[in-house]
Amino acid sequence: MSIRAENLTYVYGQGTAMEQYALRNVNFEILDGEFVGLIGHTGSGKSTLIQHLNGLIKPTGGTVYYDGVDIHSEGYSLRELRSKVGLVFQYPEHQLFEVDVFSDVCYGPKNLGLTKEETEQRARDALRLVGLEERYWEQSPFELSGGQKRRVAIAGVLAMNPRVLILDEPTAGLDPRGRDEILDEIRELHSERNMSIILVSHSMEDMAKYAGRLMVMNQGEKVFDGSPREVFEHYRELEAIGLAAPEVTYIVHELRDHGVPIGDDITTVEEAQKAILKLLGGGNHD
Ligand code: ADP
Ligand code: MG
Repeated sequence: MSIRAENLTYVYGQGTAMEQYALRNVNFEILDGEFVGLIGHTGSGKSTLIQHLNGLIKPTGGTVYYDGVDIHSEGYSLRELRSKVGLVFQYPEHQLFEVDVFSDVCYGPKNLGLTKEETEQRARDALRLVGLEERYWEQSPFELSGGQKRRVAIAGVLAMNPRVLILDEPTAGLDPRGRDEILDEIRELHSERNMSIILVSHSMEDMAKYAGRLMVMNQGEKVFDGSPREVFEHYRELEAIGLAAPEVTYIVHELRDHGVPIGDDITTVEEAQKAILKLLGGGNHD
């Protein structure tokens, strides 16, 4: 699996008075098994970008390739692409509509033309993957909590068995516990199911914890692309575009400025804790 964007450009309302550049010459390639965090200030183009990757939006300029093939070339099946590249919208619970949870999750695989048995098997697997207990399956999705609704929506996309899962701010509006649960489940999908993940978020802390690679957007352009460590090196530039590196980055740099020999490769609180305890000579604090 690979997704490649070449000079991707998108203009809303092109040729009208409302013309708005959302993406400008964006280039990247995402390979099998990557966990990519996509960050950027509101309006930087994140949602527009990801909707290009399963063909929901057609580029104004440039090309999107899936496994080397232009997804807008003649005869290319966008329907098939959408089963391979699963997209979970922001506030996906707004798109729940079936009378019960189980039917809602069946909707996608059913439309892929699978048999009833296959469809139901997929739905059961997906609901278990997102950790929604069986006692909820016959309930109306509207009776569930915010976090549960969101898990049903994610299960609906997982039931399509995608190779790549794209999630647009999946933790928006959830309390800290709901947020951690969802992120941990996404991490499991990545590590155990070997699914490629593209996670849109504006939490640098979450990104440092979960993503192996970060792509930073600003005003429709990709401004940084690298490991969290590489990207957070640019914490001053990140600040200038309205993004702060994780709090711990500042502490580590402050300590280094004061001559404390702590590594500059630290991006999470856990890593900082370990390094500081080690410096204090504590030894076995694990
Ligand atoms: P993000 O997801 O990073 O907040 P978006 O992709 O939603 O960014 O938006 C990128 C830019 O495109 C913004 O300037 C936004 O106002 C504009 N935009 C987004 N959706 C539309 C739309 N449907 N019509 C016109 N402009 C839009
Ligand atoms: Mg958005």
